Amino acid sequence: MNTQPSILIIYTGGTIGMVQHPKTGYLTPLTFENLYRYLPVMQNFNYDFDFYTFKPLLDSSNMNPSFWIELAEVIEKKYESFDGFVVLHGSDTMAYTASALSFMLENLNKPVIFTGSQLPIGMIRTDGRENFINSVEIAAAREDETPVVPEVAICFDNKLFRGNRTSKFNAENFGAFVSGNYPVLAEVGVRIRYYHDRILKPNFKKLKVHKTLDDNIAILKLFPGITERAVHSILNTRGVRAVILETFGAGNAPTASWFLDQLRDAADNGIILFNVTQCKGGTVEMGKYETSAELEKIGVIGGYDITTESAVTKLMFLLGSDLSKEEIIKYLQTSLRGEMTV
Ligand code: ASP
Repeated sequence: MNTQPSILIIYTGGTIGMVQHPKTGYLTPLTFENLYRYLPVMQNFNYDFDFYTFKPLLDSSNMNPSFWIELAEVIEKKYESFDGFVVLHGSDTMAYTASALSFMLENLNKPVIFTGSQLPIGMIRTDGRENFINSVEIAAAREDETPVVPEVAICFDNKLFRGNRTSKFNAENFGAFVSGNYPVLAEVGVRIRYYHDRILKPNFKKLKVHKTLDDNIAILKLFPGITERAVHSILNTRGVRAVILETFGAGNAPTASWFLDQLRDAADNGIILFNVTQCKGGTVEMGKYETSAELEKIGVIGGYDITTESAVTKLMFLLGSDLSKEEIIKYLQTSLRGEMTV
């Protein structure tokens, strides 16, 4: 076996890759050549690097399922040739892309580490340098010829999170991500401290890439005062097959009959209703309060402590698979990639 780790850096866009154009002063995207200029320390790594660039580069607000599929295909094509993958991605929707990839890459046995930054890599105080270097080292880490982190993760601000457990919660701080329901996989200090018992174990099966996603879903975020009209329009979105109910606290919702009747109609029309809490920590407990017992009777499915980002992408993945409604409901209540605590 080659002892020198090989890492594929996949550049999708985002703030991290921006450098100031020497003449115009505008922020322009990085190339592989000037990556070495801004990060000369890359030469000190005894690794083989290769670089894949998305065209066009994207602000991550423009990410969508077709780009997730493109990303999954790049990893699939290069899977055997590299030991690990580092994905440079805008932080705004990174948690969605990382969650999507976790579901699309079944039997993943190699690290896929997402990173980005709050300040462009071409700026003096950039957080991109640390984030990038840490990600490369984590993607290359092996013990007994086995990758230490064989899963989709996000590396940011000296912490490594399970990708499908994270949300972006701060638009300014270097610590932009939170994983409220699952502890960090690793912390970067003088050494990188891996918490092995929290990291998924490789299963050594062949990678299977799922490339069909069904985007016929919607989110109904509850707030006190939400109108019947607003609820009606979301539940009656043309073609919708599943609706995430973003509920209060431990999965609670109003008990007004106009609200429950609409949910009942939606469920009777075959729409899957998935209960996800608006809280960044804690879990949905259907039936704990009267305000969720009614939902349970209607057939709303509890999402435990799943994030909205994971719920969105898991639904797209399950609806896109060739599964019966019963199977989809079963998998929604099963942790497939460590995305929830059941
Ligand atoms: N708007 C940028 C993006 O998500 C912000 C970032 O990269 O952090 O692409």
